[in-house]
Amino acid sequence: MKYQRSSQLFAAANLVIPGGVNSPVRAFKGVGGTPVFVKSAKGAYLYDEDGNRLIDYINSWGPMILGHAHQPVVASIIEKVKLGTSFGMPTELETQIAALAISMVPNIDKIRFVNSGTEACMSAIRLARGFTNRDKIIKFAGCYHGHSDSFLIQAGSGASTFGVPNSPGVTQGTAKDTLLANYNDLESVAALFKANPDEIAALIIEPVAGNMGCIPPKPGFLEALRELCSENGALLLFDEVMTGFRLAKGGAQELFNIKADIVCFGKVIGGGLPVGAFAARKEIMDYLAPIGPVYQAGTLSGNPLAMAAGLAMLQELNSDFEIYNRLSSKTAYLEKGIHAVLAKNNVEFTINRVGSMISVHFDTAAVVDFQTAKKGDNERFKKFFHGLLNQGVYIAPSAYETWFITDALTYEDLDFTIAVIDSVSKEL
Ligand SMILES: *Cc1c(COP(=O)(O)O)cnc(C)c1O
Repeated sequence: MKYQRSSQLFAAANLVIPGGVNSPVRAFKGVGGTPVFVKSAKGAYLYDEDGNRLIDYINSWGPMILGHAHQPVVASIIEKVKLGTSFGMPTELETQIAALAISMVPNIDKIRFVNSGTEACMSAIRLARGFTNRDKIIKFAGCYHGHSDSFLIQAGSGASTFGVPNSPGVTQGTAKDTLLANYNDLESVAALFKANPDEIAALIIEPVAGNMGCIPPKPGFLEALRELCSENGALLLFDEVMTGFRLAKGGAQELFNIKADIVCFGKVIGGGLPVGAFAARKEIMDYLAPIGPVYQAGTLSGNPLAMAAGLAMLQELNSDFEIYNRLSSKTAYLEKGIHAVLAKNNVEFTINRVGSMISVHFDTAAVVDFQTAKKGDNERFKKFFHGLLNQGVYIAPSAYETWFITDALTYEDLDFTIAVIDSVSKEL
């Protein structure tokens, strides 16, 4: 396949946009080459500026769980756009989507809508700090909670329990309030609680990690975190920006039967428009302005087009009783197929999967945390990525990303993908 026009467009973009992209992972830095410029998308397929058709395994990093340009979502946006695009005043639509989301997700009484997953996590942490009157938070190495300062933190040197900035512009002062633990390592969490008694406002976690490949929580891990938080008076914050409305109607809370104190959403909840949200039981949510002391706001929060798209998406998911089984079956079929061809071609690999989240790591050791995720063979991944792209299969341009399966994929698409992986893996 040719990507000539994409290359030209990327060169032009580079003159006026830093790195040519509005979000770094789009830039192909991890795999080399130039990004594909999209012209349109429908169902499971992307159509690029060079006229190629690609089978899409990213789906806008998760939102397009029912496929691109899904008719009920598009129709709902078109209907609303004619009535005005933003008012900065309340609309009935906001109450409708809030009520539906609350009915689908366990353990939440109230929800507030924002414009991105980043904003949701940032606001949820402020709320947790205000509610507990404590400053420190615990996060896990390799988990992503958006790009706000408190989360752009990496592990400090061996002896220190606090983190250090992993981007210039994040202050030491902010970094000292974020403590780093290792995913699936309960001891590392217990040690932080012990070393910081009565100081930890919240522990934030992706209940299934999806930003270092897909990493499932070990059996009992989330339950133990729930207990540790309760014992220590800290809030358990599930970042379900990726898992929410994807792993089940009620997200990871429902799948694992665990009650989080605050839950963050993004991606699927906006149906492809910029939406995030955070939710909790009433006593916590009522701590927010205008009735509570914790300030949080947004000119475009609850935007009517975004709410229309999100509401249509949630209605579709809520009324389709087979959707999550179907997604899981398709992903399991893909997993089995990839497993068979990689094994046949003697490639070293590990596949992780939970529901419709799946990732392939080029290493035989189990991938359970950030350390083990980093061990994958990146050179092999680059070849794999470009091999697939050349034959019309688009996966994320980074070895640390989950593939997001969409219901629009047919079994023919999956068979085609497996055949492509077979041919590519012969050359790995
Ligand atoms: C994508 C993501 C975010 C950030 O959401 P944005 O909408 O990109 O700001 C936060 N947390 C998790 C788990 C995510 O996957």
